[in-house]
Amino acid sequence: MSKIRLSPSRVNDFSNCPQLYKFRSIDQIPEPISLDAERGTLVHSVLEELFESPAPLRTLARALEILPTSWEAQIEAKPALHESEIDLKEWLDRAASLLTTYFSLEEPASFEPTSRELHLEMDLSEDIYLHGFIDRLDIADTGEVRIVDYKTGKAPKPGWEEKALFQLRIYALIYWRIHGVLPHRLQLMYLGDGQLLRSAPTSSQLENTEKKLLAVADEIFAALETGQWRPRPSRLCDWCSFKTICPAFTH
Ligand code: SF4
Repeated sequence: MSKIRLSPSRVNDFSNCPQLYKFRSIDQIPEPISLDAERGTLVHSVLEELFESPAPLRTLARALEILPTSWEAQIEAKPALHESEIDLKEWLDRAASLLTTYFSLEEPASFEPTSRELHLEMDLSEDIYLHGFIDRLDIADTGEVRIVDYKTGKAPKPGWEEKALFQLRIYALIYWRIHGVLPHRLQLMYLGDGQLLRSAPTSSQLENTEKKLLAVADEIFAALETGQWRPRPSRLCDWCSFKTICPAFTH
């Protein structure tokens, strides 16, 4: 059996709906542009570029200056964005508001990130390749490691925090396995409502994360063998680009 590639997004897809995972990862059916995802990409690229400036220049004014040029570069890299019906002023205003919220959560001039857009990868087993991109990794002088992820949406409702932290625990697991250092802090920054979700991962949490990943991989291998990819209808279907071809709705 060939190796499978897992990332937090693909694990999330399979956990939400195996049929969705199949459409995306096995059939690789192209999807229409998601403006929410594009907005996220824009804000991430502005923040990434901001950290390239010397610390004293990492101001909100500088971020807002970078914003239009980052958007132009994004359109150039993805010409299909020209077709999207975007009100440019409204679009840039919304991105500017998310960046303003970012500055209410931390002062980028006050620290030096160790890495941005860091690709982490490892073989979880002989037939499972696990990887992902960390938005930012900060290593303090004390050696403490912080993994940071920016979200342009709102913080999860009470009771859903663990699901949100699962993605960062996957990154923490890879980092721990590769470097032998247990990250000290996981931090999700929700720019949609100015909330922070923080967690100090423990070794047993990360071992549980590993067990969950192995269990998901087992289910994927079973589905690959049987060809049974169960659709799991939920509220997510309203946003799913495959609804018109999904067996849950076409049969
Ligand atoms: S429409 Fe719903 S059930 Fe079908 S693939 Fe998408 S998420 Fe799954």
